[in-house]
Amino acid sequence: MKVVVDLNRCQAYAQCVYAAPRHFVLQGREALIYDPCPGEADRAEIERAVQACPVRAITAIPDAESTGEAA
Ligand code: SF4
Repeated sequence: MKVVVDLNRCQAYAQCVYAAPRHFVLQGREALIYDPCPGEADRAEIERAVQACPVRAITAIPDAESTGEAA
């Protein structure tokens, strides 16, 4: 799957870091580092991060949609 974080929206609340610590890391107080291509096996964890973000900055796109393949 593909993950995109709108860093203009992100306010470094770190809720995604708590929800999916293997995929989102805050470096310093404001710089969010994230995995843009997590495996499908991590979908539940990524979805938790998407739901947790108070400013809805995280978008998760399943592989079928991100590659244009039919599901
Ligand atoms: S939860 Fe949202 S606002 Fe907070 S660090 Fe993650 S992406 Fe940024």
